[in-house]
Amino acid sequence: MRIETLAVHAGHAVDPATGAVSAPIHLSTTFERDVEGSYSRGFMYTRNDNPNRRALEQGISALEAGQAAAAFASGTAAAMALFQALAPGDHVLAHVDAYYGTSRLLRETFLQWGLEADFIDMSDIKAVKKALQPKTKLAWAETPSNPLLKIVDLAAVADVVHASGALCVCDNTWAPTVQRPFDLGVDLILHSTTKYFGGHCDVLGGIIVAKADDEFFERVRRIQYCGGAVPSPFDCWLVLRGMRTLPWRMRAHSENAMKVASFLAQHQQVEHVYYPGLSSHPGHELATKQMSLSGGMLSCEIKGGRKPAMDVAAKTKIFTRATSLGGVESLIEHRASIEGPGTTSPEGLLRLSIGLENADDLIEDLDQALG
Ligand code: PLP
Repeated sequence: MRIETLAVHAGHAVDPATGAVSAPIHLSTTFERDVEGSYSRGFMYTRNDNPNRRALEQGISALEAGQAAAAFASGTAAAMALFQALAPGDHVLAHVDAYYGTSRLLRETFLQWGLEADFIDMSDIKAVKKALQPKTKLAWAETPSNPLLKIVDLAAVADVVHASGALCVCDNTWAPTVQRPFDLGVDLILHSTTKYFGGHCDVLGGIIVAKADDEFFERVRRIQYCGGAVPSPFDCWLVLRGMRTLPWRMRAHSENAMKVASFLAQHQQVEHVYYPGLSSHPGHELATKQMSLSGGMLSCEIKGGRKPAMDVAAKTKIFTRATSLGGVESLIEHRASIEGPGTTSPEGLLRLSIGLENADDLIEDLDQALG
């Protein structure tokens, strides 16, 4: 099945008990045992497994062409489970321009816990080769990266990482359906399903999809149900519902973002636009090879730095000043101030999550805000 068909049908079935076309939500935390004590219907206790969670995991796993998946209460909880599946003394190689919450988790929690970590620019394959160590167990790629939209060559990174005996993870949150990391050799995919999967800024979630249902993934699964950072049945239902329209929404997000990026690129108040769909982007050629569309996220630097950038965000009328991304509504945010001390985002940088409004309205809004 092709991706649009998978998105609509994977994880969904007509409810055999009632014929309901939309799946029921199973709020029950506990499930009946058979008379001899077994659980022949497959569920015991909702922290361990739940029908809505199982449907979500099967659905996203099928969409990414993986063997298994584990859903979590947030993208960060999913990242946490991956780090917890490592052992103290293991080394993690992470992209320097990864989501700041992931880098913060490594720096503030897992270094104390005994993991070692280096942050490098993974769009530079030589830097990746140089930074790999015999004790590197996990390489964390994110592409397009956050917030500078650097493009990491997933196939090349997966190759060198495998050659040194480590696993390669891709945070695919920004490019669901338009980037297929397993086809490029990646072992594990992470999504913050809070973003494009949910698609409406009303549900928090995360998932790890595994190319192979192996011993490492079994550790992740154990952390999921023993640790208990699991999503509620309703949240699973919402994310799976969001998946049904995901490929079509990604097309519209990408089409709108391309128009907005092209407008910004020729505006005299704009110093620089970061969008892989633009031919001026250093990763454009690679993005064209490894992504079918460029996605709905872009950043731009406003001339003059922090104050003029904040002023532009303040003057927009259709864009909402808010963090996060991937919803139907367009968002704008001054990244350095949300990231706080230690940010590496340029002071004049605004990050835009391009929604599903008419692109001309978005362009007119930005035009008046830029003055
Ligand atoms: N990965 C990326 C690329 C993100 O943008 C985010 C959140 O913004 C996360 C992970 C974390 O996800 P969550 O907010 O669901 O914990």
